[in-house]
Amino acid sequence: MYPGCRPDGSGVAVSLPPVGETVTLTVDVYRAMLDRALTETPKEACGLFTGPTGALHVDDFHPMANTAPDDEAWKLYVLDGQEMLNVEAAADAGGRAVLGVMHSHTHTTAYPSPTDVADAARFDPFGAWVFIIVSLKHPDPVLRAYRILDGGVTEVRVVVDGG
Ligand SMILES: [Zn+2]
Repeated sequence: MYPGCRPDGSGVAVSLPPVGETVTLTVDVYRAMLDRALTETPKEACGLFTGPTGALHVDDFHPMANTAPDDEAWKLYVLDGQEMLNVEAAADAGGRAVLGVMHSHTHTTAYPSPTDVADAARFDPFGAWVFIIVSLKHPDPVLRAYRILDGGVTEVRVVVDGG
């Protein structure tokens, strides 16, 4: 289980290191993430994304069910544990890696909520994953990426490959 986020603001400063990380998304992955956010709203969308081991190059997105209760799914995402294991097993078997998790914010900016930061401490204590958030706050969706480590949030630059 993988509880998620509440759109109750952030209050945490973004820290951009001088030499930051960059995550590359294929244009198909980028579009699939935006599409998923738009089709799942008013619920939060969520899913894992994968790529070759050892690089931050995302070439596959696995949309997943948001198993949060109906009255909370607009502000919270919960990944299905078995579905998560299946995606991880398929990635392992193909010599690939789960690089992180995407979810949407239906009414707030593309920035980790306090709940997102608290959750990250539990399921990604070493900061191994990239957290991608798609915001639907404005008419045009906004996609941004972060590392979350020890309660700190660091933005990761996003490049769409072939977009
Ligand atoms: Zn969130």
